[in-house]
Amino acid sequence: MTENKIPYKIYLEESEMPQAWYNVRADMTTKPAPLLNPATGEPMTAEQLEGVFCRELVAQELDNDTRYIPIPQEIRDFYKMYRPSPLVRAYCLEEKLDTPAKIYYKFEGNNTSGSHKLNSAIAQAYYAKNQGLKGVTTETGAGQWGTALAMACGYLGLDCKVYMVKCSYEQKPFRREVMRTYGATVTPSPSPTTEVGRKILAEDPETTGSLGCAISEAVEDATTHEGYRYVLGSVLNQVLLHQSVVGLESKIALDKYGVVPDIIIGCAGGGSNLGGLISPFMGEMLRGEREYKFIAVEPASCPSLTRGVYAYDFCDTGKVCPLAKMYTLGSGFIPSANHAGGLRYHGMSPVLSELYHEGLMEARSVEQTKVFEAAEYFARVEGILPAPESSHAIRVAIDEALRCKETGEEKTILFGLTGTGYFDLYAYQKFNDGQMDDYFPTDEELAASFAKLPKLD
Ligand SMILES: *Cc1c(COP(=O)(O)O)cnc(C)c1O
Repeated sequence: MTENKIPYKIYLEESEMPQAWYNVRADMTTKPAPLLNPATGEPMTAEQLEGVFCRELVAQELDNDTRYIPIPQEIRDFYKMYRPSPLVRAYCLEEKLDTPAKIYYKFEGNNTSGSHKLNSAIAQAYYAKNQGLKGVTTETGAGQWGTALAMACGYLGLDCKVYMVKCSYEQKPFRREVMRTYGATVTPSPSPTTEVGRKILAEDPETTGSLGCAISEAVEDATTHEGYRYVLGSVLNQVLLHQSVVGLESKIALDKYGVVPDIIIGCAGGGSNLGGLISPFMGEMLRGEREYKFIAVEPASCPSLTRGVYAYDFCDTGKVCPLAKMYTLGSGFIPSANHAGGLRYHGMSPVLSELYHEGLMEARSVEQTKVFEAAEYFARVEGILPAPESSHAIRVAIDEALRCKETGEEKTILFGLTGTGYFDLYAYQKFNDGQMDDYFPTDEELAASFAKLPKLD
């Protein structure tokens, strides 16, 4: 088939949809470092993890060897309500940029949660239900994960308790109402309802909260209530595994037309969408079958990969979670109130951290105003109002396409468009009013945060 036959949107038939998730860890020579028990410094056992997480999810978390893990039929049926997600050939963007590059994006905003997060939410809720649990607890930053989980729990009839980072809770009251419509209870974090929340509030009553802090509260809630477990929307190996559906669908669609991307780009908060998008392609590279350039894009205000250190750290502010080895800014790091709420996490997926450490993936940090310029440009050219998080990937995709224009190279670029920005209009308003500024943590701030990393011997 010739190039010009490629449609604007490449859809897959139901029968072409992935039947199994792909576990990139199976093809990694150096596996991501294990989670450690903070009390002993020893790897967390399945039994210890099962106090916090659902049993089957613990098994997936610890499985570094099984390449394909079947997607249960019930989850595949749920996926069919909003998947396959479209793979779009950005003809309009290419033309407007006047670039020889060919640009594709995988759009995950086609469901009510407005992001890719539903892919893992339904899987996690399914395993919790299967275990006979009453409900799950979680944190949410920008609100996409909480919404996705509320939808999944609403569908399966599970109770859902969401701790929402306070500044988002206040900025995004309508997000909160979507979650409540699906039956979730939503508490602003830090809250006086948990011990860890009370402690954090006592130390800093004015705090606007952080993901790390909301995680501590959600974990405490789960471990102190019978029949509840904690679920997390990113960072963990299991979440990357579920998100591999994004990369698998993209690859199946591109393969149909014989298209091979040169550059694959995604925004990186905790790393789940990027990890999922690149997984099958990274697998080919790890097996020595093909070469790709992978680029993780993060906000300059929360630069875990580009300015963080690769070390064991706590996943949460309250230090109740296991230690993970990852690129981190320190668990006490509270980023400025950046408008890309979903990218405000201090750490990064251990899988992506290891791949980055080995030089298999690049990372770039971009300033907020440059991101919104790209967002606005994209909205006008391609029609979709992108989430600020997703717009980090758009920024770098445009930069790469413009570089092709200079060099005349006809590179094929694939990027992840993780979601829509309808709940981010406060941020768009700031941008449109010229009131958005760029903030970078200073070296001193970061050094002070690194000094508080746990010491392991
Ligand atoms: C949560 C979120 C992200 C970032 O999370 P990752 O785990 O890094 O993928 C990116 N885009 C959107 C729209 C999100 O909701």
